[in-house]
Amino acid sequence: MKTCPRCESKKGETVSQSPVKGAWEIYQCQTCFFTWRSCEPESITMHLYCNP
Ligand SMILES: [Zn+2]
Repeated sequence: MKTCPRCESKKGETVSQSPVKGAWEIYQCQTCFFTWRSCEPESITMHLYCNP
């Protein structure tokens, strides 16, 4: 389980992974349904920095 950067619940689940193993993962919060990638832990507004 990952901590959601938006609501800080601990219910983030992995929903997708990079074809390159370990490069990045996509998580979804089961509380607020926010999704984020593993390579944007803090700055969740900067999505363009994280193209696969
Ligand atoms: Zn959340």
